Amino acid sequence: MTVTMATMRTILLSCLLFTCGKVLGLSGNFWHITDIHWDPTYKHTENPELVCASSGKRPAPSAGKFGDYLCDAPWDLINSTVYAMKYILPDPDFIVWTGDDTAHVPNEDLGEEAVLSIISNLTHIIKLVFPNTKVYSALGNHDYHPKNQLPPAQNNIYEQTAQLWQGWLEPESQTTFRTGGYYTENLLNRPGYRVVVLNTNLYYDQNKATEEVDDPAGQFNWADHVLTEAANNKEKVYIIGHVPPGFFEKKRSKPWFRPNFNKRYLELIQKHHSLIIGQFFGHHHTDSFRMFYSSEGSPISTMFLTPGVTPWKTTLPGVIDGANNPGIRVFEYDTQTLLVKDMVTYYLNLTHANMAQARWEKEYRFTESFRVPDASPASMHQAVERMASDRCYLQKYYEFNSVNYDLTECNSDCRVDHVCAAREVDFERYEHCLEKERASSTGVAMLPVLSVVISLVWASC
Ligand SMILES: [Zn+2]
Ligand SMILES: [Zn+2]
Repeated sequence: MTVTMATMRTILLSCLLFTCGKVLGLSGNFWHITDIHWDPTYKHTENPELVCASSGKRPAPSAGKFGDYLCDAPWDLINSTVYAMKYILPDPDFIVWTGDDTAHVPNEDLGEEAVLSIISNLTHIIKLVFPNTKVYSALGNHDYHPKNQLPPAQNNIYEQTAQLWQGWLEPESQTTFRTGGYYTENLLNRPGYRVVVLNTNLYYDQNKATEEVDDPAGQFNWADHVLTEAANNKEKVYIIGHVPPGFFEKKRSKPWFRPNFNKRYLELIQKHHSLIIGQFFGHHHTDSFRMFYSSEGSPISTMFLTPGVTPWKTTLPGVIDGANNPGIRVFEYDTQTLLVKDMVTYYLNLTHANMAQARWEKEYRFTESFRVPDASPASMHQAVERMASDRCYLQKYYEFNSVNYDLTECNSDCRVDHVCAAREVDFERYEHCLEKERASSTGVAMLPVLSVVISLVWASC
């Protein structure tokens, strides 16, 4: 009896200290970081022309210790980021790191050795700060020389990177990584749980090495096989990658994948959606997500796009002021079902950091700010539909999209771009969405009374 009471007390105390979910093994968390883009040329100097190579010809007049919105990340920012992760959540279940390590500079300014040395330095700091944490690491389109040209076959960069990541990759993962830059393993060695890390840079439309290839590095066939096996074994799966399918929300009708690859990726997800519980990607440097629907229109999967560490203002023509504050994200998940229960994004206000000190702050908790119960496909569907119809809700999403950098109004064109990019990954369906949403925007504009009501609501955002 005394023992039972003591045990009860211990359980109760543990519950109070660590939350019951954690003790019972129901709730876990992991970091997702992406798009660090280290610029080793960054100098904190008075001459705006000489600050960094990644600003191109753009002078950087407000450069500070932790970087500039026109430049890729200086080492001080990277160091601050990794130690902020350690401070905020020192013992995550694992880390997802989705690549793009080198700066936005011409190929002539880099080389195979420079790219490998950058990957090596970033790998080293993550290993140094999180020596006992498993890292699921994917290659980005900037993690190759020449950039974007990741080959569908064995090469020195895959080979050397497999060695750098030796401590993180299982022996079999190293084999597939060497030939195609992709791998699969049981998540944290737990039977019934799997990660599939893809090299979607093979599908990037800037990659000439895969232009004429039907299934680059046999990755689609391999993934289909892995997921079929996983279904037979009743496993639950996370998919991790860098370049996402679908469209960029900051530039209308701007996809990344070649059309055939986009279609095939979508088919893969539709076929195996029942076991794919989450997809985690980067590349955009913005905070967004992509919905996947069944042919009947039910939400079946979500791809989460985590913001980048680099604040670099994109030079993509047509994007106005496409910079961001450095962001990192904790995912909270159910360790039994892998359901994404919530996500908390942390950020560094770069202007403030340069003026005063680097203070990493919580930007927002998804369920609180978006008022949904979790980050399941059904909840994410609710979120995107509310973005389409509620301007205040859209505005909040929009400010998070650039990690509190661009606080201007998301106007009607902006609404269409963000809603359709989040809602439709399929090329044709995206174009239909643009038409439909444009028509509904025009409809609202033609009703003056409604416009007044909307602007009043807007004022109260
Ligand atoms: Zn990037
Ligand atoms: Zn990228």
